[in-house]
Amino acid sequence: MDDCIFCKIVAGEIPSRTVYEDDDVFAFLDVNPLAEGHTLVIPKGHHETIEDLPADVATSLFAAVHELTPAVEDAVDADGSTVAFNNGEAAGQEVPHVHCHIVPRFEGDGNGPIHALFGGPGEMEDDQLDAVAERIKQY
Ligand code: AMP
Ligand code: ZN
Repeated sequence: MDDCIFCKIVAGEIPSRTVYEDDDVFAFLDVNPLAEGHTLVIPKGHHETIEDLPADVATSLFAAVHELTPAVEDAVDADGSTVAFNNGEAAGQEVPHVHCHIVPRFEGDGNGPIHALFGGPGEMEDDQLDAVAERIKQY
């Protein structure tokens, strides 16, 4: 994609603080970090969302996330990390090239869990839960 900033980073046309690279995957520090060590892990090919990823690239991407998460935590002596995708515009994805955020977390940093995004669990009847579980299984 000619106008994608992450494709330009992979191509070396925009500089980045690269921390990892293999045949399918590239990782670099986020330029506006939410915490020290905030890292982005991306496929080298341009795919907009998780559902656009070929299965083998998804496997490579998660393997890199698996390897990088302890490396990022160790680099900044973190107590944990929030590992997440903003998947699609509705979820707040701003760069339309799929990327996994690894954000180091520290005891008492006060930033809350992913649940804090939603203000708590919604109310669902059992039959609604059964129906949605069935649709996911069928897909
Ligand atoms: P998202 O909102 O999930 O699409 O996140 C996009 C992320 O990309 C943000 O956290 C930005 O700070 C980060 N970002 C944007 N441009 C660059 C860049 N040139 N180098 C590193 N990170 C970037
Ligand atoms: Zn791209």
